[in-house]
Amino acid sequence: MANLQLNHIYKVYPNGVKAVNDFCMDIEDKEFIVFVGPSGCGKSTTLRMIAGLEDITAGELRIGDMVVNDVEPKDRDIAMVFQNYALYPHMSVYENMAFGLRLRHLPKEEIDQKVREAARILGITEYLDRKPKAMSGGQRQRVALGRAIVRNPKVMLLDEPLSNLDAKLRTAMRSEISKLHHKLQTTFIYVTHDQVEAMTMGTRIVVMKDGYIQQIDTPRNLYRFPGNKFVAGFIGTPQMNFFEGTLTQHGKKVTVALDNTEISLDAPIEYFHKADRSYLDGSKSVTVGIRAEHISTDPDKYPYRAKCRVSHVEELGTDCQVYADFNLESDDVVGESPTRVIIKAPAGSTYGVDSVITVSLDLSQLHFFDSETEQTIAPRIPQEVVTDATVSGSTLTALNAQISLPQSIRPEDGEYRLYIPTSAVSLDGDISAQFLEEEDVNGQRLVHLLAGDTVLFSIVGKDVQLDKTVKLGIDLKQVRLERNGEVVVQPLNCVNTLKGTISKHKVAAVVEENGKVKNTTELAFTFDVGGASFDCPRELAMRLVNGGGQHIFGKELEFRFTPYDVHVAEQGIATTVEFRSNYGKEQFVTCPVGEQKVNVLVDGEVGDNVCLSLDVGSLEIHEVARGIRLA
Ligand code: ADP
Repeated sequence: MANLQLNHIYKVYPNGVKAVNDFCMDIEDKEFIVFVGPSGCGKSTTLRMIAGLEDITAGELRIGDMVVNDVEPKDRDIAMVFQNYALYPHMSVYENMAFGLRLRHLPKEEIDQKVREAARILGITEYLDRKPKAMSGGQRQRVALGRAIVRNPKVMLLDEPLSNLDAKLRTAMRSEISKLHHKLQTTFIYVTHDQVEAMTMGTRIVVMKDGYIQQIDTPRNLYRFPGNKFVAGFIGTPQMNFFEGTLTQHGKKVTVALDNTEISLDAPIEYFHKADRSYLDGSKSVTVGIRAEHISTDPDKYPYRAKCRVSHVEELGTDCQVYADFNLESDDVVGESPTRVIIKAPAGSTYGVDSVITVSLDLSQLHFFDSETEQTIAPRIPQEVVTDATVSGSTLTALNAQISLPQSIRPEDGEYRLYIPTSAVSLDGDISAQFLEEEDVNGQRLVHLLAGDTVLFSIVGKDVQLDKTVKLGIDLKQVRLERNGEVVVQPLNCVNTLKGTISKHKVAAVVEENGKVKNTTELAFTFDVGGASFDCPRELAMRLVNGGGQHIFGKELEFRFTPYDVHVAEQGIATTVEFRSNYGKEQFVTCPVGEQKVNVLVDGEVGDNVCLSLDVGSLEIHEVARGIRLA
């Protein structure tokens, strides 16, 4: 039993293939995690890194409290089950299961007891004397599972264990593995390319594509709140229908129009309360997604109707899938039409080929994605909200409140659009707001607040008590003001980046050996950034060497840090103050370093010539050439 932590894990194969990029995840004890995605997306590589069968290029893997990057597979307390069972053909089932324990020199009685217990759990007691070749695929996979169970591992890793079985047996084994997880009460990590397996077995699912995590969520949340078009299309059968279209807000309604169709439906603005407003003026193309089960062949089921032309019907026994086209003029015959739609209909539904039918759509179940980035335009935690604001002197009127502007924000008097990131909204301030509702978004407590007529979002602590009315604060260094589409006030950049290198050199050292004091030398490490040097602790240097190899010395690195991780000091990067930002509670200076500008939190007065010292322990360090994060 153990929890796992994968912190910024990368795998770059020697041939340069970046199989896994920046994999971050905390896995709780006893979870059943499924890695799912198309072939080649990096699932097996990630699993094999956890098992220790593949080196981790960069990042940190913890099992329990221990960093195990360099721990041998046999010492990680994990067991792995493979697709091809990997049984010894010349050994009986009993011997196959006992083999690993014998290698560990466990007493005979203990081995016997463990093997028999595992065989009982898996229902293979009567086959213990058989050889694998005299067993079916499903029975062999049980033996492979048994061989893993007897080790009583902290973590069970399963790599496509059911892929070699026929469809019926796969379904049966699926529920057996779920039951086994329940019985063993241990952490399972399971790799599959089959979304049905993922949805039916996982307590949480990691959807991967091209080496990147697309979304980590519960099966239900993946279905309801896909974060991008890939996840939306991957989860659910039949695949979600996608159309290109536009969204145009008129007061309290939003018109959803689909390209190349006559469909133009007015949906209530409430369906869009988390949507990025910049998509609602009809100017940007969006991908509209709706699942087959949210369209009904009963025209009266939902108040939003559309016509489509049927091409064919698939009878599935429990229900039907109607293949149709929202473009009534479409002459598409091979199903490539961008307006093709699949609709779930009651079993036994029959429609003539080419008949035009009226269906109704559940518009509350629509999904919207940016046509280019394919990311949802309505994330569960909205990035920012926008509201109207007026500036007069040093006062900003917005959210039904008068907000006094710090010295750093002094645009001309006039009307503006004020963009407020969710991270800028806190319950620490004096703007009156109404508490509307709260939701748990993957462990984060998101509250919806109404200030004036704008709904704002904020992440708050679990133990904060919320009354009907609250006072909220806005961190003004994070907001943006726009006028006629032009940015007039930018937020403060809170991610500084500087290029630099790490070097090693010998330094004199004194060591004590057998009671004798000896003069010797040892290696020390230095970061060279912006013409200054900073000591790099040995442990951090080792992380960089582990990730980047010995060639890391002299290679270009990128250091990322916030204005809070750098300060004005006696020594360091010599630069000048180019700009001062006063946000009232906090003050920052902006200093040029090479081509870059660095923002630095300052307390009190500082002169025009300064030295900057970096808080080395807080740096995020990337190797530029391969684009991987090393620390
Ligand atoms: P999945 O399990 O999702 O099918 P893998 O983790 O096996 O994907 O592979 C991820 C990527 O890494 C693929 O592009 C694959 O070709 C590549 N890859 C896997 N193993 C190696 C290897 N030993 N050397 C080089 N590239 C590899």
